[in-house]
Amino acid sequence: MIQEVKLDPIHFSKYKGIIKDGLYDHVIQMAKKLGRVTVIHLNSTASGGGVSEILSTLVPTLSGLGIDARRFVLKKHFKFFEITKEIHNFLQGKKGNLNEKQKEIYLRTNEEIANELRGLRADLWFLHDPQVAATISFHPNLHPSVWRSHIDTSKPNQAIWDWLLPHIKQYDRMIFTRRTYIGPGLEYDKCKIFWPAIDPLNPKNSPIDHFFATEIAKKFEVENTRPIISQISRFDPWKDPWGVIDAYRIAKKKINGLQLVLIGFFASDDPEAHSVLIDIKKYAGTDKDIHILSNLDGVGAIEVNAFQTISTVIIQKSIKEGFGLTVSEGMWKGKPVIGGKTGGIVDQIDDGKNGFLVSTSAELAEKIIWLISHPKEAENMGREGREKAREHFLMPRLIADHLKLYQELI
Ligand code: UDP
Repeated sequence: MIQEVKLDPIHFSKYKGIIKDGLYDHVIQMAKKLGRVTVIHLNSTASGGGVSEILSTLVPTLSGLGIDARRFVLKKHFKFFEITKEIHNFLQGKKGNLNEKQKEIYLRTNEEIANELRGLRADLWFLHDPQVAATISFHPNLHPSVWRSHIDTSKPNQAIWDWLLPHIKQYDRMIFTRRTYIGPGLEYDKCKIFWPAIDPLNPKNSPIDHFFATEIAKKFEVENTRPIISQISRFDPWKDPWGVIDAYRIAKKKINGLQLVLIGFFASDDPEAHSVLIDIKKYAGTDKDIHILSNLDGVGAIEVNAFQTISTVIIQKSIKEGFGLTVSEGMWKGKPVIGGKTGGIVDQIDDGKNGFLVSTSAELAEKIIWLISHPKEAENMGREGREKAREHFLMPRLIADHLKLYQELI
C-alpha cells in the first residue's frame, strides 16, 4: 500500500540571501539541537496538488539540515481514492454520507497502511490529510504522531466529521492551516496552526527569463503580446473554473484580445479531475483564446512557472480553499493575484493592497479589467505581494515551524 519517495537532500544554505538572516540562523540552530532524529511523512500522492508540492521540498530540506526525514506515499488504488476524494469533499462541507461499504474499504485500507508502517521505525510520525487519518487506530505505537490537515474543515459535514473524530483525536497534535478549521470535539491545546509555504528555488518558482517564458507560451499558442489571465489548479469543482470562464467572457468585452489560460493537473488521488476537464472544455466551447492545458499536454513545473511569469493577472477563484499555494506562487512572481474570498486565500491577499478578493464572476471580471487598465498600480500590487510572500509564505518559515514542533514532541 505504501512506497518510499527518495529525494536528494536540499542544502539549506541555498536560502541564504532570500530570507532574513535571523530566520536562517534560527533554523540552523534548531536543526543542530535536534540532531539525527527520524521523522516519517506519509501522504496520499507523490505528485499533483499542494500537499505533494510542499512535501517534495520540505522533506529533502529537512534531510539537508541533518534530520533523517523520509517520505512515503500511497500506491495507486482507484476505489480507495474515489472514496477519499468524497471524504475530502464532505470535510469541506458537501452534503451526504458514505455508505457502509465505502466506510469499510476506507478503514480496511487504513489498517493495511498501519500494518506496513509497523515495519518502520521513527521518532515522529507525520500523517497528512483524511486519506490516512484512521491509520492510527490500527497502530497503537504510532507515537508521537501528528495529523496534518490541509483542507478547509471550518464547516465540515457533521456526520463524516463525527465518524472520523475518534481516529483524529488519538494523534498527539493536529495541525490546521487556520484557526477556524479546527473542527468540533478536538482538544484546542493539541491543535497548531501552520501556514503552508512555497519553495522559491524549485523549478516552478525560480526566476525564469522572460524571453524563454514567452517562447514556452508560444508553443501552446498563447501570445505574450496580448493580455493573459491564468488560473493554475487541479480540475476540481471547488476551484470554480466555470466561474473563471464567465469572468473572462465579461472582461473580454472590454479588453481586446484577452487570453485565458486554465492549467490543471491529474493527481493519482483525484479521480474527479477527468469529468471536470470534459465539462469545462465543453463550457469553454470553440473560443480559441481559452487555453485549457494539463500535465497530459506536457505542462510541468517549468511551463507553470512560464505562464505565471508572463500572466498579466493571476487568478485563484476558489469557493473553498485550504490555503491555495498558487496564490503565494503568483505573489512571489510579483503578480497581482485575484482570489476567491475564502479560506487561506484571505490570509494571503490583502484586498486592494497586493491583489483583490472577490466572491462572484462579475466582481472578478471588474478587477481583471481594472488591473489590466492600470498597469502601474498592478505592478505596485505585485511588488507588495512578493514582499508578503517573502515574509510569510516561503519554505524556510515552514521548516522553522516543523523543527519547533519536533523539538516539542521528541
Ligand atoms: N499545480 C501544478 N500544475 C497544475 C495545477 C496545479 O503544478 O496543473 C500545482 C500548483 O502550482 C500548486 C499546487 O499544484 O503548487 C496546488 O496547490 P494548492 O494549494 O493551490 O491547491 P490544492 O491542489 O492543494 O488544492
